[in-house]
Amino acid sequence: MTQGAELPRKHLFDMPEGLIYLDGNSLGMLPKAVGPRVAETIDREWGQSLIRAWNAEGWMDLPTQLGDRLGAMFLNAPAGSVSVGDTLSIKVYQALTAALNMRPDRRVILSDSNNFPSDLYMAQGLIETLGQGYRLETVPADDIETALTDGVAVVLLTEVDYRTGRRLDAARITRAVHDVGAVMIWDLAHSLGAVPVDMAVNPAEFAVGCTYKYLNAGPGAPAFIYIRPDLPDDVQPALAGWMGHANPFAMDPVYEPGPAAERFRIGTPPIVQMRMLEAALDVWEGVSMQALRDASLALSETFIAEVERRCLGLELASPRDPQRRGSQVSFHFEHGYAAMQALIASGVIGDFRAPDIMRFGFTPLYLDEADVIAAVDVLERVIRDRLWDRPEFQTRSRVT
Ligand SMILES: *Cc1c(COP(=O)(O)O)cnc(C)c1O
Repeated sequence: MTQGAELPRKHLFDMPEGLIYLDGNSLGMLPKAVGPRVAETIDREWGQSLIRAWNAEGWMDLPTQLGDRLGAMFLNAPAGSVSVGDTLSIKVYQALTAALNMRPDRRVILSDSNNFPSDLYMAQGLIETLGQGYRLETVPADDIETALTDGVAVVLLTEVDYRTGRRLDAARITRAVHDVGAVMIWDLAHSLGAVPVDMAVNPAEFAVGCTYKYLNAGPGAPAFIYIRPDLPDDVQPALAGWMGHANPFAMDPVYEPGPAAERFRIGTPPIVQMRMLEAALDVWEGVSMQALRDASLALSETFIAEVERRCLGLELASPRDPQRRGSQVSFHFEHGYAAMQALIASGVIGDFRAPDIMRFGFTPLYLDEADVIAAVDVLERVIRDRLWDRPEFQTRSRVT
């Protein structure tokens, strides 16, 4: 039996009856083991061990221990090079600051004009804080390599575009960035658990990402940061906090960074969320990322073919070449917001991204071919019968 035969693993998830969930790229589904793990963390670890749990239950080590595990499972990164904590936006900020410190003579942060807003906002805010003539330059992702000059200090890119699912050739771009002497930061928010990632063949200095999307660790789950293991120990993290100190309980009035990824820890880690991540990672044990990738592409190819055959007016917004996609498929549709509301009302959950993108995520851990066909059946009805035109689907909520 090949490892691919283990997919999907629906029995490991709490799946609401009658729902087809195509939004695991935004917030993953709840693994069954999470609830009991949370209850145990609260009742036994916190309730009974109290402060002793920092040592007795290993709370203090969780950010690095989970970082090591996540690094080995998804990044092919050695122990010590990954830590988890905080949110992705904060990890972007820390990586940017560290990267700028590594190129003190340069002033440009280069990014993709369609990058996720928070990544761009973090760069803008940091530049204002630094106030030393730094500037953010953005170009479409396809033009990044031609926009590289020796004024560029750092390049910040997201491997898989959140709107279209377009996947970049990360290792090749990193090499081009290094050719002009700049530092590379990859945002892997839509990569981990979606496509194989290998930091041993991608020489980027930093990678960051979140764990609540394809990794299913739940809302507010900790982010991660990877730092290339051979970088010297003088890389300075922004937001130095006591948990990132070489020896937090020395209560030293002067900051001295801890080793490698540990220095990116800031303050007291959210232990309950860390335990949720731990339980979510268990679901991935034994999954081959190549088998997952194959399953993901089979699902998305079926979806595209069926939608194009049956749903007039929807236009593919994702790359047609499967190798250039992550694990999501997007379609332009003029009435995309209302159509998505109508779809959700019929039990098929995807999401909408302005201005006109209907977005569908494919998560082979808990989706199979029959789910995809059933989802298109509903979508076809929404489009054919113009269900999107009903008044109840026109008002926009805060989260789309
Ligand atoms: C989801 C996502 C984020 C979100 O950042 P948070 O701090 O976790 O809210 C940031 N960047 C990218 C590329 C994302 O896809």
